[in-house]
Amino acid sequence: MKRVSFMMLMLACVAVFTSCGNKKSETPKEDAKSELQQKVEEYAYFDLTADLSKLSESERKLLPIFFEIGQIMDDLFWEQTFGDKSLLDTISDPWMKEFAMINYGPWDRLDEEKPFVPGYGPRPAMGNYYPQDITKDEYEALSDPLKSSHYTVLTRDAEGNLKVVGYYEAYKEKLDKVCELLDQAIEIADNPTMKKYLVERRKSLQTNDYYHSDMAWMDLRDSNIDFVFGPIENYDDGFNSVKTSFEAFVLVKDVEASSRLDKFVQMLPQLQKELPCDPKHKNYVPGTSSDMNLYDVVFYGGDCNAAGKTIAINLPNDDKVQAEKGSRRFQLRNAMQAKFDKIMKPIGEIIIEPSEQSHIKFDAFFWNVTFHEVAHGLGVKQTINGKGSVDEAMQTENSSWEEAKADIVGLNLVCNLIEKGEITDITVEEAITTYIVGLLRSVRFGAAEAHGIANMMCYNYLFDNGAFTRNGNGTYHINYDKARKAIDGWIALILKTQAEGDFDFASQYSKDYGKITPELQKDLDKINKSGIPRDIRFNQGLDVLGVK
Ligand SMILES: [Zn+2]
Repeated sequence: MKRVSFMMLMLACVAVFTSCGNKKSETPKEDAKSELQQKVEEYAYFDLTADLSKLSESERKLLPIFFEIGQIMDDLFWEQTFGDKSLLDTISDPWMKEFAMINYGPWDRLDEEKPFVPGYGPRPAMGNYYPQDITKDEYEALSDPLKSSHYTVLTRDAEGNLKVVGYYEAYKEKLDKVCELLDQAIEIADNPTMKKYLVERRKSLQTNDYYHSDMAWMDLRDSNIDFVFGPIENYDDGFNSVKTSFEAFVLVKDVEASSRLDKFVQMLPQLQKELPCDPKHKNYVPGTSSDMNLYDVVFYGGDCNAAGKTIAINLPNDDKVQAEKGSRRFQLRNAMQAKFDKIMKPIGEIIIEPSEQSHIKFDAFFWNVTFHEVAHGLGVKQTINGKGSVDEAMQTENSSWEEAKADIVGLNLVCNLIEKGEITDITVEEAITTYIVGLLRSVRFGAAEAHGIANMMCYNYLFDNGAFTRNGNGTYHINYDKARKAIDGWIALILKTQAEGDFDFASQYSKDYGKITPELQKDLDKINKSGIPRDIRFNQGLDVLGVK
């Protein structure tokens, strides 16, 4: 997946908003919060800061310009996803306004896009990327090949015919302002790869062709700061999943920690050999050229800042660039820390028995998430019985089994590296406890899609094999010896199923074990009633960062 979204899917919420706007805010009561206030407070605030001591003079000077460009990306996303930002001025209820800012419009993105501002119906799938009245037939009939470009919008001409317009032409005023700011940044940048990237990105904005700037970004590995900006992901185009949305991340690299990650990537072939399964089932030889780095984010704007927040980046999306240069993976440490502090830890304190709660650690969460990503590159890629690639043979079961593999192999790698003395900041107990809490966090709002099914298969396998039991009061007691064995057993079963491309077994198994049991549902109800935040939002800006 391109971006690791924190909450993959939400179950339908029964509550539907009624238009209660002003009435409630006129009579505020401490004990009776409006539904919208509760919704807003489900996003916990977190300050985006970073250690800037390693930055060069030039890098420091770039930050304010990047923030300013990021803010324009944010405005552009408003325009794309909803339209006129002055919607905010028409809302008098402060909580409703706040919630519209979080969602970049009047629809609740974490609750099936339900409208929460009076006067708005269901969210139109076409956003502002297409005319509101476009039909699939009309789209298909249009002969312009640029209609399916990632960087064009469709509008209507004076006669009402469909017209394809490039992003630069569609958003010229704002993008010209961005180019002006980029001119200043290009002047300031003294790192040649950064300068090259900014020059190329500037060209991309004006030509609607992002290939060369994506290529230049792949070379931006020697900089202490990074700036991911432009039209990037296509999730917001509900009509065709083609049009890309503007967004921006300003990132500060942790150089030391990144080089530690690099060392682990070099160890992958050895770690693959040590996976606990039949040697036939781990015949793939992993590469060691992967680029994985650790960053603190200091600015989120546009698409990536809407509702649920990303904790990792894997770009670029262009297949051609990937084929030529690979891709870059960023672990976003402070965003992970925010989710851990505000969401994971409180869940653990409800679920895990008090004597084991000290094993819930941020560093364990960090390593588990990081090695989930690494583990996608291990195991088996081709079936061993002539059924072709694992991807093909596993058919509709492929995603959930691949996610389950990444999850449990990731945990195994963390435990293995701790035992080898390579990871020294956490213990095996901490890795396992934090992992189990992470499963509950992930399925908190349902387990319908691939990640959710994968999480449930992992949870049920561990539970059925004694990794943890429920105490009389419902808290979990973890048995670490049994957990360690269960991890190994589950890996062997997954890799065997993948290596044999055993779709029939896989689909029956996920039907039986990929669901939330009634006991677990009780635990989730307990968590959800406790008011633990759903996601996070950010205090961000130069003042938060301490830059003038
Ligand atoms: Zn994954």
